[in-house]
Amino acid sequence: MVISQHNLESHTGVFKISHIMKFITQSYRIEDKPGVSFIDKQEIIELLGNARPDSNQIKDIIQKSIEKNRLNLEEAACLLKADNPEQIEQIKEGAIRLKEAVYGNRIVLFAPLYVGSKCTNDCQYCGFRVSNKDAVRSTLSGNKLKNEVIALEDSGQKRLILVFGEHPQYNARYIADTARKVYSVKSKNGEIRRVNINAAPLDVEGFKTVADAGIGTYQIFQETYDRDTYKFYHPRGRKADYDNRLTALDRAQDAGLDDVGIGALFGLYDWRFEVMGLVRHTNHLEACYNVGPHTISFPRLQDSSNVVLNQQYLLQDSDFSRLIAILRLAVPYTGLILTARENALLRKKVMRYGVSQIDGGTKIELGAYAKNSGSTQNLCNEQFRINDDRTLGDVIEELLKEDYLPSFCTACYRLGRTGEHFMEFSVPGFIKRFCSPNAILTLAEYLEDYAKPELVKIGWEMIDKNIRSLNGSTNVPELKKRLMRIKEGERDLYF
Ligand code: SAM
Ligand code: SF4
Repeated sequence: MVISQHNLESHTGVFKISHIMKFITQSYRIEDKPGVSFIDKQEIIELLGNARPDSNQIKDIIQKSIEKNRLNLEEAACLLKADNPEQIEQIKEGAIRLKEAVYGNRIVLFAPLYVGSKCTNDCQYCGFRVSNKDAVRSTLSGNKLKNEVIALEDSGQKRLILVFGEHPQYNARYIADTARKVYSVKSKNGEIRRVNINAAPLDVEGFKTVADAGIGTYQIFQETYDRDTYKFYHPRGRKADYDNRLTALDRAQDAGLDDVGIGALFGLYDWRFEVMGLVRHTNHLEACYNVGPHTISFPRLQDSSNVVLNQQYLLQDSDFSRLIAILRLAVPYTGLILTARENALLRKKVMRYGVSQIDGGTKIELGAYAKNSGSTQNLCNEQFRINDDRTLGDVIEELLKEDYLPSFCTACYRLGRTGEHFMEFSVPGFIKRFCSPNAILTLAEYLEDYAKPELVKIGWEMIDKNIRSLNGSTNVPELKKRLMRIKEGERDLYF
């Protein structure tokens, strides 16, 4: 189905992804029920066991995804089982083509803001786990929170993800109040325009409370989709309940919070199984709510305080790039997030396989943005070790040099255009009309307010180049006018 601009703007002018999603969803699973567990381990093992990919089959599958169709589980299994170097190359090239053809060169930037490290769970891989007596516990509130937000704004950030341990103090009301507080803090020309959340599962009422604070995405990672492994790594606390976590984002949907993020922590179990779990989770949400996850995250297990990593399932860099390419092809209209857990060199290398968002200027020690301290490398203060602690400016500089267009755009979410990735993917001309101009406008703001002189020059050259590539788009004259208005001091202009 081709969705026209007319469809997009019909009726109220606000496009709800769920209204049309059911027409295009592949492998629609009518047997799925909201709130009911859906991972069938045997099914996944059989699909992976039966897949015998050959190059023609892989070519057809890639073509299907380039033609804007999500892959079904059988097809995902086929890509996951493609093991010879030629087939792997074929998949990576397919993912690069898909990313370039559909999304272009934008990369959205955000930063994590760790709000609270108290936790009653005992996740065996995490520095915040309750049994880690060396962990330094703290919570940012009042002026401490405000100072962190000011420091983030003063570095140019516009989009944050607030991160919380699971603790009675960090209930829905607390999370909502924190989000409101973050939105209320303004420094010079700076403001936070989108607050996403990564915190514990809530009940429907709780998700409603948080939604009312105007959050963007609520992320909950399943960590591992394998029930036995899950049990091993989460021996006690509320998180020990696999099904409660698996169905958490169903409750978010029931609460009207339809912008959700899923993820798996790679390194706990077989990576192919986890990718199948993520695809299955996607089609569960589509089957029950007509809308898939907004984003998928694929954190890789990192060193953390008093944790001895089990080597068995640790993922090699080569498999990590494969998994990104396969996810890109399997869920073509879902955002993919790559974090500073990975080092700068690897991030640069794997981004082109389909990543749409990265963090920049990341610090995960509580209070570190305001202190302006680097990574302490003292794991007692952090949830795990990060491997890319470059400043936001350095990350942006590299993106520009690599021909990416950094973006702080928050337009769709603020205009009620939910399902923006899907629209980018399906609505002809959407990227040229909205995404690229908004990326350019937000980059221009960054250059005017926060960039070093060398970066200003490279940045405006990139803006000129990208405006040229928008040739023919009706927005260009208006975009140029708005860039002038930004130079004259106006802020927050978007399409
Ligand atoms: N406490 C909330 C929860 O567990 O849902 C928030 C999540 S935690 C602060 C954010 C994510 O970090 C976790 O979901 C997990 O995937 C990831 N994480 C935990 N320990 C990690 C480690 N050692 N290396 C990499 N990622 C880790
Ligand atoms: Fe707590 Fe989350 Fe860490 Fe588990 S992953 S110990 S729930 S902060």
